[in-house]
Amino acid sequence: MNEASVRELACEARLNLQRLPDYMDSISDRLQSFEADASHHGQRIDFRFAFGGASIDMQRLVMRANAADRDGLARIKDLLATAVQVYARDENPEIVWTGDLSGETSLAQFREMVVTDIRDLTPHMRRIRLAGENLSRFAKFGGMHIRMLFPTREVPDPLWPVLGGNGLPVWPADDRRPVARVYTIRALDMEKGIIDVDFLVHSGESVGSAWAMQADLGMKVGIMGPVGRPVRQAEWYVLGADETGLPALARLLETLPAETKGVAFVEIADNKERQEIANATGIELHWL
Ligand SMILES: Cc1cc2nc3c(=O)[nH]c(=O)nc-3n(C[C@H](O)[C@H](O)[C@H](O)COP(=O)(O)OP(=O)(O)OC[C@H]3O[C@@H](n4cnc5c(N)ncnc54)[C@H](O)[C@@H]3O)c2cc1C
Repeated sequence: MNEASVRELACEARLNLQRLPDYMDSISDRLQSFEADASHHGQRIDFRFAFGGASIDMQRLVMRANAADRDGLARIKDLLATAVQVYARDENPEIVWTGDLSGETSLAQFREMVVTDIRDLTPHMRRIRLAGENLSRFAKFGGMHIRMLFPTREVPDPLWPVLGGNGLPVWPADDRRPVARVYTIRALDMEKGIIDVDFLVHSGESVGSAWAMQADLGMKVGIMGPVGRPVRQAEWYVLGADETGLPALARLLETLPAETKGVAFVEIADNKERQEIANATGIELHWL
C-alpha cells in the first residue's frame, strides 16, 4: 500500500464572522446531535465523529476538518458549513475551504440512480428499486433517509447539483432545478448497488407520489444522502408513524437489536394497507 493512500485527509476554512462566539453553543449542539463528542480547549472546540474530526477556533476564526477517507471529509465539511450557514445566516458567511478536496465539483453525497423494479406492496404503497454506483456512503453516518431529486412536468430534464467551494451543494437555476423530497432508504444492498424506496402513492399533483405513479424501468432520478441523525440507542422504544413514516419504522423493526423492547403504532387508511414486516425485535407492532 502506498503511503499517500493511508494519509489522513484534512482541510480548513477561514470564517469572516464577527459574532462567532454567539453562535457556538448552537453550532456545537447541532454537531453533537450527529453523535460528535465535543471537548473545549480555551477558544477552540474539537469534535470527534466516528468518521473523523473537526475543530472550530473562535480566536483565529478558522474551522478544520479531517478524516481517513473522502466520504468522511466531505461529510464533515458539509456538517460544519451547514451549521455555520444555519446559525450565522445574518452575517452572510463566506466559507472557502482549502486543503484536500478543495476545487472538487462533484458532490460526494449525490448519485444518479436508475429505476430497475417497481412493485405494489399495497393499494397505496409502491416499492421502487433504484440502481446506482458506489452506494457505500448510504450505509455510513447513521442517516437512514435520502433527499430524492425529481424531474417534474415544468422541469422534465433537470440538472443535478454540484459541489461549491463552501462545501455545500450549488443548485442550477430554477428552470433546470429538480424538486427535492425526503424518503427513507427502506433497504440497501451495497454489493448489488441497489436501494429500495417505498412511496405512499395517491391521486393528485404531489411531486413524489406523481413521480412514483408514472415511474418506469430505466427512468433516472437523483438522490442525495444519507440524510438524518443516527437513531438513539435505547432498550425500550415507543414508535409512531403514519403511512409515510412506515418505511422508516419497518426498517427499524427489521434492524434494531433482537433484545430491543417497546411498542410501535402505525396509522393506516384501512386493513389493505397492512404489510408483512420481518420484525426482528421484541417491539410490539399495532396497526391503527
Ligand atoms: C425523514 C422523512 C422520511 C420520509 N420517508 C418517506 C418514505 O419513505 N415514503 C413516503 O411515501 N414518504 C416519506 N416521507 C414523507 C414525504 O417526504 C412527504 O410526504 C413529501 O411531502 C411527499 O412529497 P409529495 O410531493 O408526494 O407530497 P406533497 O405535495 O409535498 O404533499 C404533502 C403530503 O400530503 C399528502 N397528500 C397530498 N395529496 C394527497 C391526497 N390526495 N391523498 C392523500 N395524501 C395526499 C402527500 O402524500 C404528502 O404526504 C418522509 C418524510 C420525512 C421527513
